[in-house]
Amino acid sequence: MKIPRPIENLINAFERLPGIGPKTAQRLTFYLLHFPQEELENFASALTNLKTGTKLCSICKNVDEVDPCSICSDARRDKNTIIVTSSPLDVLAFEKVGHKGTYHVLHGVINPLENIGPDEIYIKELISRLKEMVGGGSGGDRGIEIILATNSSMEGESTAMYISKLIRDGGMDEDVVRITRIARGLPVGGDIEYADDITLTRALEGRSSFTS
Ligand SMILES: [Zn+2]
Repeated sequence: MKIPRPIENLINAFERLPGIGPKTAQRLTFYLLHFPQEELENFASALTNLKTGTKLCSICKNVDEVDPCSICSDARRDKNTIIVTSSPLDVLAFEKVGHKGTYHVLHGVINPLENIGPDEIYIKELISRLKEMVGGGSGGDRGIEIILATNSSMEGESTAMYISKLIRDGGMDEDVVRITRIARGLPVGGDIEYADDITLTRALEGRSSFTS
């Protein structure tokens, strides 16, 4: 017997998700067959609205319902302390441990094996944001601090080094933009997204100067 087309379509769709193989895709699809039609429609509309209902913040590239995002438009936030992360999930993690500054979300790390170069993620945008801030007199006496919080994987490290070099090559020296890297309290290659609160707080507090 051939698998009916609608079933096969959904199996194929599930298989495109990370961590889902053919067996799981089949199981999920046949599981959904037992759902009432109304619940399936709610599920489908949640999927449809995922992108139409969200925006990328034009300042920090975080995902929110509004642009600028609720963090960038919050006057109580320290605009001169910026955590650079690879994913919006990491923003959630740093929010949970009480970061009072702002963010810049790269949406990935440089990874030549997966054909992700510097231009595929939001690095240029970070540099022009910084240049604009420096030009506009941001930072004051304390200067601006960039906290590089990409994961401690090889790709995370080389992305941090690349960004740090670009900032210095862009003529923004230590007095204007301080560059720090979160401490290695996190396991090597470990994901920030999965770190417990204590480990993440320690990694943030234990940050130190970073040079490429
Ligand atoms: Zn923002």
